[in-house]
Amino acid sequence: MKKLFRFTQNNSGGYYIGPHRYYVWAETAAEATARLVSKSWYDPYYCECCGERWWSPVEIDHPHEELPNIEVIDDYCMH
Ligand SMILES: [Zn+2]
Repeated sequence: MKKLFRFTQNNSGGYYIGPHRYYVWAETAAEATARLVSKSWYDPYYCECCGERWWSPVEIDHPHEELPNIEVIDDYCMH
């Protein structure tokens, strides 16, 4: 059973690259992270003062409340 994971981008260096939030259906957090890393806009930038560009994935307990009007099939970028 796949779970919905949400990644939130940190504005490391004072800017964003790609979507602010990224949602993906995956079996595990590791699989979700692999999907994130595979995206063309993924950037592993790390800033000493701002930290990692992407926060660790958060598993969404109630996906249909999180995304009430969006049909999530596989992965979805929410800007
Ligand atoms: Zn910084």
